[in-house]
Amino acid sequence: MFARTGHRRTLHLYFAAMGLAITLLFLVDSRYYAAATIDEAARLLQWRVALVLLFYPALFGFLAIYTGQRRYRLPLLLLAGSVACLIAVNFAMPYSLRFDSLQPVVQQPMPGGAHLQLYSGDISGWNIASRLITFSVLLWGLARTYRLFLDGLRRRALLLGAALATLLLSSAVSFLIDLGVFNFIYLGGFAYFGLILFVSFSIGLDLHGMNRALTATSEKLQHQIEVHEKTEEYIRQLAFYDSLTGLPNRAKLEEVLEALLVRQVDGFKEGALVMIGLDDFKTINNVLGHDVGDTVLKLVAERLGTLKVPGALLTRFSGDEFVLLVPDLGFEARPADMTACDLARRCLDVFSRPFEFDSRILELEACAGISVFPYPSATDNKPVQCAELALNRAKSQGRGSMQLYESGMQAELADRLQLERDMRSGMGKDEFQVYYQPQVDLFGKVVGAEALLRWNHPERGFISPAVFISIAEKSGLIRPLGDWVLQQVCEQINVWAVKAPAFQGHLAVNVSNWQLTQPGFEERIEQILTDSGVDPSRLTLEITESAFINDLDDAIARMNTIRALGLRFSIDDFGTGFASLSYLRRLPVQELKIDQVFVKNLGTDQADTHLVETIVSIAHHMGMQVVAEGVENEGQRSALRELNIWALQGYHIASPMDRDRFLTWINQHCKQPLASAQAKG
Ligand code: C2E
Ligand code: CA
Ligand code: CA
Repeated sequence: MFARTGHRRTLHLYFAAMGLAITLLFLVDSRYYAAATIDEAARLLQWRVALVLLFYPALFGFLAIYTGQRRYRLPLLLLAGSVACLIAVNFAMPYSLRFDSLQPVVQQPMPGGAHLQLYSGDISGWNIASRLITFSVLLWGLARTYRLFLDGLRRRALLLGAALATLLLSSAVSFLIDLGVFNFIYLGGFAYFGLILFVSFSIGLDLHGMNRALTATSEKLQHQIEVHEKTEEYIRQLAFYDSLTGLPNRAKLEEVLEALLVRQVDGFKEGALVMIGLDDFKTINNVLGHDVGDTVLKLVAERLGTLKVPGALLTRFSGDEFVLLVPDLGFEARPADMTACDLARRCLDVFSRPFEFDSRILELEACAGISVFPYPSATDNKPVQCAELALNRAKSQGRGSMQLYESGMQAELADRLQLERDMRSGMGKDEFQVYYQPQVDLFGKVVGAEALLRWNHPERGFISPAVFISIAEKSGLIRPLGDWVLQQVCEQINVWAVKAPAFQGHLAVNVSNWQLTQPGFEERIEQILTDSGVDPSRLTLEITESAFINDLDDAIARMNTIRALGLRFSIDDFGTGFASLSYLRRLPVQELKIDQVFVKNLGTDQADTHLVETIVSIAHHMGMQVVAEGVENEGQRSALRELNIWALQGYHIASPMDRDRFLTWINQHCKQPLASAQAKG
């Protein structure tokens, strides 16, 4: 009802007008009853009547708004007009509009001994007209009040109803006094005053209610603000903190670092970034499960957190990498590099004790890459990138290594990027070739060959696949390159079918994990086989153990699809990766390739010899064929003969050859395989 501020203001205005009229009425009344002459009494009566008349438009306006009456302005205007006319008449008549004549009647005794002079006279017709107006307003007001009551606003309706009823009663009494039915002082002022009191009380209660509602709303708002703040904090937490370890994350590190590098300092300072990468964490995750992996990460975070380095920020940078940011190495009076390396050493030392949890004991190792950076820095030395480069280098040096960033590393990176560009352009320009390295059995019979990729770089000459395959993998070029190798091999199989029909061996093609995990790999193999028409059983795909590290089930599913096409699988470099016999059994693999490092020491190193014996016996047990690679001398060859393996590959048999030389070679060796191969040995 008070919803609109404009309405409320008008309501208060009417209320104030009513209050003013009544205050003045009291003033006039006090003088009217003490008037010394008839004239004075008549003048004061005129004022009295005018004030009472003025009261009613104000009351009407007030009631209309207070009770929610719509379209009240026109009636109000009419009422105001009538009142104005009546007031004019009132002042025009000698004894006000109430009486045609006026004379003192009795003296009314008051408590305290005073006497009030009462007047009366012949009632005028205007009196009845004015009474009609006031009664109508009051009766209409009561009707509105009844509506309020029905609308459920009971308290408000009862208070207002009581006030209006009192006013109605007092008006009736006044009219009776005017009619001369009895003599008494007019009680209107008190009744009006009562109305003001009642209404004040009601408005007060309303205001109190509104106040309470306001307080409740403000409390609700306060609560919502708190919830909002908490949510914001939570979002910040999500954005800048790692939920597993509770450590700040990479985004936080970058934020802090960015602010640090532009900070104004006296002179210049040196900070360090130590990036710690866990060794073989993926294996833990895959073999022992993600729960164990998570626990390990938490424990590592806890241990690194116990290192007390002034001002340092420890963050979880990525899956298995943590970064310790030390903003100022100045806390030790030594060259910054030395201090940074000491810090890295301390970080790696936390791995010296095994991690014990859930009745497990895990030995973990980690590598560290360190970058030291001066600031405020104008150079574009990017500490994070440098530490990453250094960590990569450390990882290539073996488990538990650490490496300080050196300026050459950036150049190395640039060099890699250049090679990547060269590779892209070289692929369309016949710079790549496939070489073939024969595989023979223990009697020298040719059983197959391994396809090995060669890159003849226009400026750098032959580049080893050991160098460019990893670049191809990281740049995604491995996909077209790998497809191309397979196509070349299939093409050659068809060529040899014509030019060297005696050669019926398997062709082994290296497949990197990146290829195996790429969507659509199976379909592309099928397509290449269909296009070339080659018998799939002539092809062996060589994969390494690391192919199973990320998602063993997925790898097995893909391998089964390929196996169903008729291709064979061989595990390359067997024994160097993470060999778990438990999953070896689940793989659709027909061949194990013993890595050259074991073959190298065959016959000379007792432990390696035993290891190879064990691998061979396990493979045979699982119905797999064994190939030994890197056979370089007769000693190794005879040791392998003892082990009864299936095939040998290495410089001692033949080096990798381009397709033309390989064609000549097979034409020589496939006619009389036994004699010729042994003759070479
Ligand atoms: P790998 O599969 O282990 O290949 C065997 C490597 O040993 C070849 O090196 C081969 O030339 C070399 N080798 C052969 N006989 C002997 C020996 O008697 N003694 C010694 N010390 N080494 C011998 P290469 O050709 O440089 O290839 C290096 C690696 O590059 C390969 O290792 C393979 O992992 C990868 N690679 C080569 N071609 C391809 C390819 O077409 N696709 C993919 N994805 N990777 C390839
Ligand atoms: Ca291989
Ligand atoms: Ca190998």
